[in-house]
Amino acid sequence: MTGHEKPNILIVDDLPTNLTVLEALLKELDINIVKVLSGSEALSRMIEDDFALVLLDVQMPEMDGFETAELMRGSAKTRHVPIIFVTAINKDQEHIFRGYEAGAVDYIFKPFKPQILKGKVKIFIDLYNQKKRLENINNGLREANRKILDQQRSVIEEERLKVLLQLSGATAHELNQPLMGLQGYIDLIKREKDPSLILQYASKLEEASARISGIIQKIQTIRYDEVVQYSPGTSIIDIDQKINILIIEDSDHDYEVIRDILKENKKIHIYRATGIENSINFIKQKGADLLLLDYYLTDGNAFDLLERMKNEQQEIPVVIITAQGNEVIASKIIQAGAYDYLPRDSLNSNSLSRAIMNTLEKSQLKKQVKETYNRMVDMSVRDALTGLFNRRYFIEALDREISRSQRYKTDLVLCMLDIDHFKNINDCYGHTAGDTVLAKIGILLKESIRDNDIACRYGGEEFALLLPHTNIEEASIMSERFREKVALNDFQHESSRMKITVSIGIAQYQRGGEEPGNMFVEQADRALYQAKEEGRNRSVIFLE
Ligand code: GH3
Ligand code: MG
Ligand code: MG
Repeated sequence: MTGHEKPNILIVDDLPTNLTVLEALLKELDINIVKVLSGSEALSRMIEDDFALVLLDVQMPEMDGFETAELMRGSAKTRHVPIIFVTAINKDQEHIFRGYEAGAVDYIFKPFKPQILKGKVKIFIDLYNQKKRLENINNGLREANRKILDQQRSVIEEERLKVLLQLSGATAHELNQPLMGLQGYIDLIKREKDPSLILQYASKLEEASARISGIIQKIQTIRYDEVVQYSPGTSIIDIDQKINILIIEDSDHDYEVIRDILKENKKIHIYRATGIENSINFIKQKGADLLLLDYYLTDGNAFDLLERMKNEQQEIPVVIITAQGNEVIASKIIQAGAYDYLPRDSLNSNSLSRAIMNTLEKSQLKKQVKETYNRMVDMSVRDALTGLFNRRYFIEALDREISRSQRYKTDLVLCMLDIDHFKNINDCYGHTAGDTVLAKIGILLKESIRDNDIACRYGGEEFALLLPHTNIEEASIMSERFREKVALNDFQHESSRMKITVSIGIAQYQRGGEEPGNMFVEQADRALYQAKEEGRNRSVIFLE
């Protein structure tokens, strides 16, 4: 409806001359006049069009004005159209007013003064125009409101995309570390002279790159708006797995709605909590695969629960259920860590199972990425053959332990170990036998040290042992014990039995000293050299 349409007024009179007179009197007003000769005609016109006012003659032959008005009152379309009765009768006014909505009815007596007629009609027309203006404003507001909601919805879509990008972005970032590990192997290969060792590194490279491309592939399968169709064997989520869902909802009715929707799905097991405390208790005792979360809870809101979960280090994925129009809150909740949101009004089997499957998939993926990342980090600091820390890690650990010793003036000892005449092992029994020996040395070494000691494979058949909070006597005893253990051990490879000895150089870091790490290593190396010189299978303490 446009604001400039003239209001319609209906004049009802059985005498055409009366109609003409009334029309003439009102013609100055900015209105559109419709004239009819009977009550029934009036009623049918009013059904067709919208009228601002009816001027209704009381005395008419077939159906008088009162009867006509009575019928107008009975219909929704005509009930609110104000009526001015036009009559010569000056009695029983009470009756006329009774039953009509206040302000909707007026009264004009014949013969009427033109000014009074015009004034009264004008009041109703003004009222009508005002009402129309308000309606227009109202419609405009409703339209604006709808646009805002649409916008908010698209903001949320953006948020959801952002969350996904964040998820994959974080993964890309996490890939850095293993990629650096790869770079480390490449550096080692460049420096390595032994071709069989190079081959061994190459297979490590292959292994690592296969893992990285696996992660990348999974990042690419993150779907946002559809349930991924799984083919057997490649699914991230096991199709037949039972899914335990905790519905956290304080309203019985809302809980039942969700329960009834999910009931159809045989794989889904439903549990219920009503507030934060009982949810946390439930999660701690039984765990859950997914939480369906109402915003308002008996003892807080969704943000509080997410916060508690974070503090308790619970990483169960959460889907939030919000009221319509709460999209802004929903968006904030997603930023706070929820995986998805569903407006309560659009809850149905499809939307719910889609959100559940997508969320499970995303969280599973996140978990896998984390595990792979941890494996990668581990790979990048450990030597694959012996399981000991690698040289890169040793260098980091050395710096760390030295500054700790400097700061707290604590003891620190470094032992450098080298297998005696190891070349002979390779030469007599083959390279794989040599590898077996190295691996066994790794096992023996791990068995011989304490939790805080750091055992590394420093080079080919050379090992470094960092012993924090250990003095030189303790280190010497430990070294001698290890040396004897190696010497007594029968190393076996296939049908061969081998005897091995090691030489050990021991150096103590000057308490609260200032020497850099490389000096410390050099001291231990010099002691090791001396042990070799003096006949091997022995340990030597570095003395200034
Ligand atoms: P010394 O008593 O003087 O230490 O004699 P050595 O033979 O142990 O010392 P040398 O440094 O001459 O030789 C070390 C050998 O260790 C050479 C290399 O082929 C071998 N080696 C290094 N890394 C590996 C490995 O990962 N596997 C095997 N099988 N052999 C290795
Ligand atoms: Mg050696
Ligand atoms: Mg050597």
